[in-house]
Amino acid sequence: MKMEMMINSQKITGNERMEVLNPYDNTVVDTIPLADQKTVYDAIKSAKNARQDINKLTSRQVYYSLHDACEQLRQNRKKIARTITQETGKPINASYYELDRSIETLIFAAEESKRIYGENVPIDAGLGGQDVMAFTKKIPLGTVAAITPFNYPVNLAIHKLAPALAAKNTVILKPSSQAPLSGLMLAHILAEHFPHGVVNTLTGTGKIIGDILVTHDDVNKISFTGSVPVGRQIAKNACMKKVTLELGGNDPTIVLESADIDKAVEEVANGAYLFSGQVCMGVKRIIVESKIIDEFTDKLVKKTNKLKVGNPMDKNTDIGPLINHEAAEKVNRLVEDAKANGATVEAGGKMEANFYWPTVISRVNEEMELVKNETFGPVAPIIEVHDIDEAIRMANNTPYGLNAGVFTENIHEALKCVNMIESGSVFVNKASTFRTDNMPFGGFKNSGTGKEGIKYAVEDMTRTKLIGFNLN
Ligand code: NAP
Repeated sequence: MKMEMMINSQKITGNERMEVLNPYDNTVVDTIPLADQKTVYDAIKSAKNARQDINKLTSRQVYYSLHDACEQLRQNRKKIARTITQETGKPINASYYELDRSIETLIFAAEESKRIYGENVPIDAGLGGQDVMAFTKKIPLGTVAAITPFNYPVNLAIHKLAPALAAKNTVILKPSSQAPLSGLMLAHILAEHFPHGVVNTLTGTGKIIGDILVTHDDVNKISFTGSVPVGRQIAKNACMKKVTLELGGNDPTIVLESADIDKAVEEVANGAYLFSGQVCMGVKRIIVESKIIDEFTDKLVKKTNKLKVGNPMDKNTDIGPLINHEAAEKVNRLVEDAKANGATVEAGGKMEANFYWPTVISRVNEEMELVKNETFGPVAPIIEVHDIDEAIRMANNTPYGLNAGVFTENIHEALKCVNMIESGSVFVNKASTFRTDNMPFGGFKNSGTGKEGIKYAVEDMTRTKLIGFNLN
């Protein structure tokens, strides 16, 4: 198979191509074209020309286009889930779960396409407004460019493409070069249900494609999910363009003395090791009160040691490889650095090829690189605190602010934490690793700006036009 880009419903093979590797065994899954500058301009032109065609569709037609694309996605569930596993190393059960979420996200978008309302404006309340009747309409922005990361290649693409289409924009998808195939399959399904040129795709180097998309006047919005450094660069280059940035996280989960420890251990393990920790809202710092730290650590170690590391295509595998060897080496380096500075590895701590074993590491402090920045590996670092105030201070001591979790059976402690933790979401008796696809999702501080979650993304992908009539 040779994956292609799509511009104006034409398949583009490109002159130069790059390989997409399976992180499990480094075999070649497929190749993708490397878009040159001309191809990027062609995609922008195609998206611009198609605006009038999607605008001619009724909301009912847009609803049915998204609905029918959703049915096609459902029919291809197995093939696309297997592709996610091949290109990312994600355990197959988690890939099926991603597909199921993606199908639901597309349904949310189809439903939302019928709920884009303007409002009546009481313009006669203002001086000079007598005899004028006015209302607003929500109109499309024009063209939305979606730039996505490797870790949720289908669902994160849908979180951008589907609301953009629901609001009658044209789109250009640029998926991660690490894992582009499943996102392209999704986009090419969507393209079949809309007029030519409404859905376009580009593959290749993020910097070359990104710089043109971000600075071109005919691209009206950049919806980006990825790392903080790239997000910052996009924000700088985008100038006056609308931008949504869904960036990294260093999410804390606090476990207080009053917590149900078994529940906390279960949730924290799931949150820290999901997709080998390569999740923006993964549990990255576990902040535990001293009186329960030994019991919590023992139980987490037992749970961790039971996890099966292996072939991600095997349904019994809990932990697959990291996305590539550099990613595994980075995790190894951060764990070794923490050890050299006094931390203790209680479980795991082993690297082999692209794999890193699920690791519990205690006696961690805030100065260690392992918890200062996003590690993006299957590591559960435990930090000891003496009371709730210290726990909250530590949770907030980070430039990130995506999600947070708190375990406590005490309502006063719960309320104090939800009020004082600075992050886009705070969950009580759930780890930070929680998202449904209709909730407003997006971080504070360096974790980004803007919200996704279909209703919120649709709002962000429209403009408000005021229309007035002189009744005199
Ligand atoms: P990344 O390296 O930032 O890449 C993300 C995308 O940006 C890729 O498609 C990449 O293309 C492209 N890109 C690279 N340079 C660019 C430039 N100068 N201009 C425009 N686009 C450019 O991120 P990643 O390693 O794939 O993903 C992991 C990161 O994503 C983590 O930090 C994670 O926390 C974050 N994330 C956040 C969320 C959220 O919702 N907040 C969700 C998932 C992941 P190429 O790779 O092809 O060069």
